[in-house]
Amino acid sequence: YIYMRGEFTVQQRSMDAALAEARAAGYVGKDVMGSGYGVDIWTHKGAGAYICGEESALLESLEGKRGYPRNRPPFPAIVGAFGCPTVVNNIETLSNVPHIINRGAAWYKAIGPEKSPGTKLVCVSGHVNKPGLYELPMGTPMKEIIYDIGGGILGGKTLKGVIPGGSSFPVLNKEEAERAIFDFDSMRTIGSAMGSGVIIVMDNDTCMIDMLLATARFYHHESCGQCTPCREGCGWIEKIMTEMEAGQGKLEQLELLNNISDNMVGNTICVLADSIAMPVKSYVTKFRDEFEAHIRLGRCPFKTTSAQQAA
Ligand code: SF4
Repeated sequence: YIYMRGEFTVQQRSMDAALAEARAAGYVGKDVMGSGYGVDIWTHKGAGAYICGEESALLESLEGKRGYPRNRPPFPAIVGAFGCPTVVNNIETLSNVPHIINRGAAWYKAIGPEKSPGTKLVCVSGHVNKPGLYELPMGTPMKEIIYDIGGGILGGKTLKGVIPGGSSFPVLNKEEAERAIFDFDSMRTIGSAMGSGVIIVMDNDTCMIDMLLATARFYHHESCGQCTPCREGCGWIEKIMTEMEAGQGKLEQLELLNNISDNMVGNTICVLADSIAMPVKSYVTKFRDEFEAHIRLGRCPFKTTSAQQAA
């Protein structure tokens, strides 16, 4: 099964057309190339829930049920789709296989660093001149991704920070981002992760309170609600960030944010709770001055108020 997110209608059409061609050519079906070996492939679209990217929620959704992550064990390799042993892989991973078989492992391992060989799809978004999806060798310096491949910071501004692997991983400040190397080990060393390879670049005018509020709102909305630390924690974080954004934040809420996050990490069925808790801690630690300024001023230091505009 190729499980696709609910919004991917165009992509599903393309994939189905490709599968029809492969079936007509005898590469897919009950009797592949007359070998007597049968393998069929179907696309399956979810209904738009972020949590269905988590492998066990994906399996539930594939089986036609609500996309709730499963308790483990048993792991999918033992009891997966429809009760059968199942391997769940990202299609980006599988797409490497034909190239490795055709050109050999040595060819593949020659790309990128020794411990993280190969290429990675990197989605560069945010305040850059050339946002887009790029296939890059593992180990590409983040500086190159931002300033060369991404074309530099939009509008001649400077870099403030980078969310390196999708919103669920710790944010990097300018200094960390500019020395980061984009591969598994290097990103771990710097205290973050490559994650999905979705890089969000933020310029010096970005309000980190705004960013964290948007992130918290998303995870609160997407929490499936099975686990108390996630269901309640996401809601509390969103509530605090909403107050802070409205200029009603208090300094003690910074410790409260850390405390809530500590109680979420590792205490839930899946890692969605960690996915907001870890960013929260990183924002509060790395941009504490900005949070404190926001609280002290009762407004965003980066945005002009209507009173200031009138003056
Ligand atoms: S951590 Fe959150 S999303 Fe994951 S199972 Fe628990 S409540 Fe659901």
